[in-house]
Amino acid sequence: MSVVTRFAPSPTGYLHIGGARTALFNWLYARHHGGKFLLRIEDTDRVRSTDAAIHAIIEGMKWLGLDWDGEVVMQFARQALHAEVANKLLAEGKAYRCYCSVDELEQMRMAAMAAGKPVRYDGRWRDRDPKEAPEGVKPVIRIKAPQSGKTVVKDEVQGEVEVGNEQLDDMVLLRSDGTPTYMLSVVVDDHDMGITHVIRGDDHLTNTFRQVMIYDAMGWAHPSFSHIPLIHGADGAKLSKRHGALAVDAYREMGYLPEALRNYLLRLGWSHGDEEIISTEQAVQWFDLGSVGRSPSRFDFTKLDNLNGHY
Ligand code: GLU
Repeated sequence: MSVVTRFAPSPTGYLHIGGARTALFNWLYARHHGGKFLLRIEDTDRVRSTDAAIHAIIEGMKWLGLDWDGEVVMQFARQALHAEVANKLLAEGKAYRCYCSVDELEQMRMAAMAAGKPVRYDGRWRDRDPKEAPEGVKPVIRIKAPQSGKTVVKDEVQGEVEVGNEQLDDMVLLRSDGTPTYMLSVVVDDHDMGITHVIRGDDHLTNTFRQVMIYDAMGWAHPSFSHIPLIHGADGAKLSKRHGALAVDAYREMGYLPEALRNYLLRLGWSHGDEEIISTEQAVQWFDLGSVGRSPSRFDFTKLDNLNGHY
């Protein structure tokens, strides 16, 4: 099987170093296996996505030398294809129309909170007749989540991770205005683009259980999943603005060399023995998912400066 990976940033801000590391790992994995590395811009959030962010992502990747194969895929342009999948699941009885009003959903939420229970949609429109729909409510399309058993994901980095299916609810695939949700778009795009390996930050792990529902309902094979622990600051807290430069652009402006930043990002969460200075050729030759660490890595400017001095 030929390997196809992707980097799928949302263009709601600059290319940050966590994203750049995700892109690097995907790039290396594809190049190591002689496969393809694709770029998909997830621009479905029309309010927060900007052309400036798309530009920054593309320029940042070029500066880091992470070339992608083929044309950039723009997610928003594929909305009709995403909606088609929701309608197919509806026609097959694997999804249904839910006519809950905003007030009704709010009541459900309040009742769950008052009972100290997690807020989940209770599936009340699964078996209800659309004739009972209140006037003026435009339906959403929800997937029928499995109601018993568990969902197990075999993650290349985290090992086997599972969730009890009672924790999944009938999530929305298509909103009442006909637009697809993020979960649906990601799965349809990954499937259509032939992605064999999804490598991303472990903040997406819980989404994976939900995405698997869509793969299963469509009868599509799952890609291999790898969730990489996030980058933390030197103090151990999740990396944020107060830790200093987050944007790849900022490093360029500070005069860091792309080779040094790339070498540093590679070593953040992946190791090859005690090697610190790793050339691109070596990185392509050595990269594997089995050597990605399971605990968060810490960003350390001193190490980056040392590497920068080397290049
Ligand atoms: N667009 C998502 C993000 O920027 C990534 C989606 C994915 O990798 O599946 O966080």
